[in-house]
Amino acid sequence: MTDKYDAIVIGGGFYGAEIALELRRMGFGRVVVIEREQGILRRSSYVNQARVHNGYHYPRSLGTAERSRINFEAFVADYAPAVLHEMEAIYAIAAGSRVSAAQFETFCRVIGATCRPAPSRIRALFEPGMIEEAFLTRELAFDASRLAARLLRQLENARVELRLGQTARIADWDDREVRVQVGDRLERAAQVFNCTYADLEFVGAPLMTGLKREMAEMLLIEPPPDLRGVGITVMDGPFFSTMPFPAAGLHSLSHVSFTPHESATAKDGPGMQPRRSNRDAILRDSQRFLPCLSQARVRHSIFEVKATLIRNEDDDGRPILIERNPAAPRILSVLGAKIDNIYDVRAYLRAQELSAAA
Ligand SMILES: Cc1cc2nc3c(=O)[nH]c(=O)nc-3n(C[C@H](O)[C@H](O)[C@H](O)COP(=O)(O)OP(=O)(O)OC[C@H]3O[C@@H](n4cnc5c(N)ncnc54)[C@H](O)[C@@H]3O)c2cc1C
Repeated sequence: MTDKYDAIVIGGGFYGAEIALELRRMGFGRVVVIEREQGILRRSSYVNQARVHNGYHYPRSLGTAERSRINFEAFVADYAPAVLHEMEAIYAIAAGSRVSAAQFETFCRVIGATCRPAPSRIRALFEPGMIEEAFLTRELAFDASRLAARLLRQLENARVELRLGQTARIADWDDREVRVQVGDRLERAAQVFNCTYADLEFVGAPLMTGLKREMAEMLLIEPPPDLRGVGITVMDGPFFSTMPFPAAGLHSLSHVSFTPHESATAKDGPGMQPRRSNRDAILRDSQRFLPCLSQARVRHSIFEVKATLIRNEDDDGRPILIERNPAAPRILSVLGAKIDNIYDVRAYLRAQELSAAA
């Protein structure tokens, strides 16, 4: 065995793990995943809303909505044991929303997504006058712990090396290989996949695309009885969302205005830490719409740095970012943006006909 890897994947989140598996399926021989945490899927692949997007979130970005529609059914089938299938997904249009109820219905028709009036039991939960309309839709939640367990088994079966608790940094590269510093060892690989999400700009790979990083806070709550098995998203503006968080058997509660804390760009450097909790503001504002949230029991907040593309700030689009900088053609940087975009990465890898020998 040579001491050179066919591929080094930096980052053992959902994307790093899935990309490593895909490379093995494509015939790559020696593949290693290097992950800073002591386990896989511990960062944004765990700390997120757990929504398997089906398009509804993106009335201002038809491209993202349509891709979500395509990827949703595939994800729900392929990852069935890690998906919460019994869930009522409600999208409520706030009075004063950026889209009206009629526009939302038209949008759902255009993207071919189910959208019916919500049952009266659900409508009765809202404070009168706060929403224009509530719709029953089809959206589900995933269980990040189950995804992690499944990926761990798959990585082992596919004989992907997994190095946990180790931080990688790209040292340099030439036209034959990339050298990566991992602890006190300098590893060599034909190709490197930078799957570090919020750290994408800080592992030594030159990135051309501008990213915005934002510290995000979500509450994990024991939902009131009326909200068990129900996800409610209030659109479209500075509103909130609460939905099952299967990995903890709780609900998440996030708010467009109060979930984001400070934001930063590359020049500010890595290492954002939450300075305070917005828990009271998140709860207070959400209760204005859904009074039953006053019976919710807040367990704790979870924080993560959210990375988005600066160019999508206005339309809220969440396309995949796959970047190969011409100055470093053996390094591919991937920002998943949302979990179902995995199919777009797989399609890209196969279309490139990457090979370990390349
Ligand atoms: C608040 C929030 C809510 C979200 N809600 C949703 C949602 O509802 N639905 C949805 O589909 N998506 C959602 N997303 C987006 C989704 O979480 C991400 O698209 C997805 O998890 C990205 O996976 P990843 O593997 O790229 O990143 P991560 O899971 O963050 O993995 C990156 C890994 O790289 C490791 N790492 C970083 N630097 C190094 C280094 N130098 N050396 C070694 N390891 C390193 C980190 O420890 C981490 O484990 C949300 C994101 C956030 C933050």
